[in-house]
Amino acid sequence: MEEQYSHSYRILCRSCLQPTDWCYCKNIQPLDVGMRFAILQHPLERRRRIATGRMAYLSVQGSYMIHGYDFNDDPHIHALLQNPLYQPVVLYPEPPAFNLDVLSLHEKRQLILDGKKLLIFVIDGTWATAKKTILRSQNLCQLPRIFFQPRQQSRFRIRKQPTKDCFSTIEAVHQCIDLLGEACGFDLQDRRHDALLTTFDHFVEAHVQHKEMLKKTGMGLSPRRVEKKHIEGEKVCSNKMKK
Ligand SMILES: [Zn+2]
Repeated sequence: MEEQYSHSYRILCRSCLQPTDWCYCKNIQPLDVGMRFAILQHPLERRRRIATGRMAYLSVQGSYMIHGYDFNDDPHIHALLQNPLYQPVVLYPEPPAFNLDVLSLHEKRQLILDGKKLLIFVIDGTWATAKKTILRSQNLCQLPRIFFQPRQQSRFRIRKQPTKDCFSTIEAVHQCIDLLGEACGFDLQDRRHDALLTTFDHFVEAHVQHKEMLKKTGMGLSPRRVEKKHIEGEKVCSNKMKK
């Protein structure tokens, strides 16, 4: 029985939740960037095999991963909002929102009260699901909002973005660090945070090459069909990444 099960379902890494041959944990060095992120993952996003919210969560020290789409009564969100150590904001581009592209360093520092750490809620989902999440979750809707204009087109070649201004979650987290790191006491000079994009690029490239190989050989199941099997019969292996 166990053998049949392992034939039908590939084993997943306990940390990144990817099939072990796609595990990207070896590329991740969790970084303390002087701020915290809470990745709010929509259930639909959780089912996607090719997604970057979890990658962002694993890449930034002290991050939180919370699943759901209506956070009004979510005890984890409530605890974070009540934590006196945090200054919570939400990354969401609709007004009223602070445009990080035009704020001076002084203005960015003013966003953060003395002695507090910036906590950025990032909704990990499509634009449509993010909008619904904000509308449903009054506790998030009432938070100060921040946004930015992506400086370049998304590097997420394996997933179609609705417009050229859309970023994957890990790209959005990276740009937040880029724009707010200095105000949060993180040294941007050596570009250590670019490691987030390096992990992402390796992941994307591996999928592009795999897709090309499947096209050439005409082999394999589509990724979505494989993904559904994993979710329905998830099985995990030991975590290779040091926590
Ligand atoms: Zn892994």
